[in-house]
Amino acid sequence: MKKFLLIFAVGLLACCSATAQRLPGGASPDHYSLAVNINFANNTFDGDETIDLKLSKASTTITLNAVEIDFHNVTATAGGKTQTAKVSLDEKNETATFTFDNQLPAGPATLSIKYTGHLNDKLRGFYLSTYKGKKYVVSQMESTDARVAFPCFDEPSYKATFDLTATIDKGDTAISNGEIVSDTPGPGDKHTIKFATSPRMSSYLVALTVGDWKCVSDHTDGVKVSVCTVPGKENLAAFPLAASKAFLHYYDSYYGIKYPLPKLDNIAVPDFQAGAMENWGAIIYRETALLIDDKTASVDAKQGVAETIAHEMAHQWFGDLVTMAWWDDIWLNEGFATWMTPHPIANWKSDWMVGQGVVAEIDHSMAGDSVMNTRPIHQEAETRAEIEQLFDGIAYGKTASVLHMLESYLGPETFRAGVNLYLKEHAYGNATAADFWGAMARASKKPIDEIMPTFVLQKGVPFVGVEAKCEGGNTSLKLSQKRYFDTPAAFNQPDQQIWQIPVCAKGINGSSAGNHECFLLTQREQQFTLKGCSKFVFPDSSAMGYYRFDYDSAALHQLGNAVETVLTPEERIALMGNEWALMRVGKHSVGDYLALGAQLKNTPGSALMDSFGDRLTEINDHLVTDADRPAFQAWLQTQFSPVLQQLGYNGKPGDTPEQKQKRALLFEGLGIMGDDPQVVAKAQVMVQEYMKDPSSVDGTMAHAVIAVAARHGDAQLYKQFKEQMQKASSPEQYYGYFYALSLFPQPDLTKETLDSTLTPAVRGQDLYILIPLLRHPNSQDETWSFMQAHFDDLMKKTGGGLGGVGVFLYGAQSFCDAQKAAQVQQFFQQHPFPGTERNQKQAIESINNCVQLRDQQQGPLSAWLKQQGGVTNASNGGATMTAGASR
Ligand SMILES: [Zn+2]
Repeated sequence: MKKFLLIFAVGLLACCSATAQRLPGGASPDHYSLAVNINFANNTFDGDETIDLKLSKASTTITLNAVEIDFHNVTATAGGKTQTAKVSLDEKNETATFTFDNQLPAGPATLSIKYTGHLNDKLRGFYLSTYKGKKYVVSQMESTDARVAFPCFDEPSYKATFDLTATIDKGDTAISNGEIVSDTPGPGDKHTIKFATSPRMSSYLVALTVGDWKCVSDHTDGVKVSVCTVPGKENLAAFPLAASKAFLHYYDSYYGIKYPLPKLDNIAVPDFQAGAMENWGAIIYRETALLIDDKTASVDAKQGVAETIAHEMAHQWFGDLVTMAWWDDIWLNEGFATWMTPHPIANWKSDWMVGQGVVAEIDHSMAGDSVMNTRPIHQEAETRAEIEQLFDGIAYGKTASVLHMLESYLGPETFRAGVNLYLKEHAYGNATAADFWGAMARASKKPIDEIMPTFVLQKGVPFVGVEAKCEGGNTSLKLSQKRYFDTPAAFNQPDQQIWQIPVCAKGINGSSAGNHECFLLTQREQQFTLKGCSKFVFPDSSAMGYYRFDYDSAALHQLGNAVETVLTPEERIALMGNEWALMRVGKHSVGDYLALGAQLKNTPGSALMDSFGDRLTEINDHLVTDADRPAFQAWLQTQFSPVLQQLGYNGKPGDTPEQKQKRALLFEGLGIMGDDPQVVAKAQVMVQEYMKDPSSVDGTMAHAVIAVAARHGDAQLYKQFKEQMQKASSPEQYYGYFYALSLFPQPDLTKETLDSTLTPAVRGQDLYILIPLLRHPNSQDETWSFMQAHFDDLMKKTGGGLGGVGVFLYGAQSFCDAQKAAQVQQFFQQHPFPGTERNQKQAIESINNCVQLRDQQQGPLSAWLKQQGGVTNASNGGATMTAGASR
């Protein structure tokens, strides 16, 4: 699954308060036949199901999962006899127990179940979606919602094959995991579609979508690949179709196991809670994660769509073919798919500089993992809420980062050999984390089974201390380790954690990079030797380390401009992230950080500027006082306007993707944080041109233009944006305007945007607009009050589940004020959200850490800005807007 909220933050979210205890065992399914008859008239479906299973011993009961299901008749046939069951439901444990008068013998048995289910509005199980007044059925089973759609053994280790049949209205079609094998008229006015038997798989991978789908298809490696949409959006399918074909071919080769189904459908649905879901052979996406106008789309949107497709397709092997035995190892699924994502994309679009994004992601993951209330990658989970809570930045980003580090340490071919071994050994079955690192260790003959547990079972980020000196013609390197925390008080506490860390170091002499070597740091302190004498040692050579590090900043300064020749762009991104981490613990100052960012601003690619922009936003929102703002804006303009001028405001034919992205980042940052009058004036002209003719502005630049215009816009422009949303020709255009509604500075427009979230104009899946509203200091108080006042309505609108809770949990992290921390704490006491206690603590910790950072760095920042000479052309706009929050 790909969580939509990960776009906004590293963190997590959870669902519902119901428990999901494990099944008692004794019965295991081999095959399901499930026929559903869809009744849109009353939003129900009739289910006719048989389950072929095996009983390990004789029994008078069988217990499986079922919830919100009305049972009509249940029988079991075993040993040549058929008996009718008495059905008892356990709502709390989401199970049904069938009790029989006579014992069922050990061995094979067949259950036959007739029931009615509900097409719910909660975005789970088989649920109802609508588009232009037309009803659709969509499915979402992960983690524990197959039981809402059909009675089943709803745990990942109960793998079985599935035969699905759907009886649906004339004019509608249906898509499921298998290809369609027959479509016959009847009963009555309806028609009945039968699908081919699925591979042996877990119940959370079952898919069924019903409605008026239009599909665009092509073939690769003998597989029919399709992109399916509601009518009228087929023109947005070319890009995702090309990506799917390229990635399928790449994965067939990488995994060494061919994709086993004859077809792969990618379906964009109008209402979806997550970003996408990897159902085997029938991947379901929210529209914005799949559909794109190839001609006008931004580079960012193309990259986002490619990433989602690559992630879900990676799961077709890692997750679908081999599945974790239990949810406590879901990190292996999600972390692996996240790790894999850049590989086929780099192969497909070499000019996207995908490797830079990986380094930025590692930095981002470490930032999220540097708090007290983080968790280890592996975490026990038994209840529904506990399981849902595991789909977080640790499972996705941290796991992927650790895997990148190991791939870099072993080399890509050795790492791949380990992956192939693991998949071959467990195909169509289940596996544990130990199975994975065992296979990696055997394939690589390196102690991966000792390294990985130290990162998977312990929480937090290591900090590597480095002392280097020249001895006898070589560099003697003393490395040490402790845990990194993002506040000085926590960081300076003694701690006992020891990791096994592959530390890669590079010696540097003057303007040339010397030897690169990797060492395995397994003790608190260890001595190593790097060949040759080095003036400076960079302790994260290749930039793939999941650790923060100390370095000799005086020696780095002596390198001067040579930094840009001796460090790769990726290493510079890692250096910047690390500089921020050193600043957080008081080792360096925010001025050091800003100066380094300014020095490295011409780094090729856009990833460094992108992460730097995020940090500048934090500085702007939380550290810059109103009195210092003109000096901060002047510094931004002095440093970055020339870079933008050089790129030009308008796209030029032949611009590389990175130039387009860098231009947009600079434009948005200067227009929103810098209040640069030239940029603002340009945005106001360009936005009107863009609304008249979207082809007049480069697609990547359009988002920045809309955002800057909104930040400096008025009620008239707000109205225009709402009109444009109705005419939007792609999801990207629609959401470009939609999220920009959160940027208008006028309180009455903020109120209008907030009120709209309670109306049908805003879909339940789009309540995430509340997050940028909470992030912007000028709208956050009003937004927080609104969210508290309408708590019940907002939760109801998201089906009481993921999205609603997530919006509150993420939103709460936006504050930087001790009083707000107390208010947020009080709010959580009133609305306990069982199962999300750790997230609540994280939110409070995040607010408190921000307050500490401000106390520690606001004074030094003020002094540093004065030293910069306070150039004069900044306006006194008091810009306090978050740049890029709506990306
Ligand atoms: Zn996933």
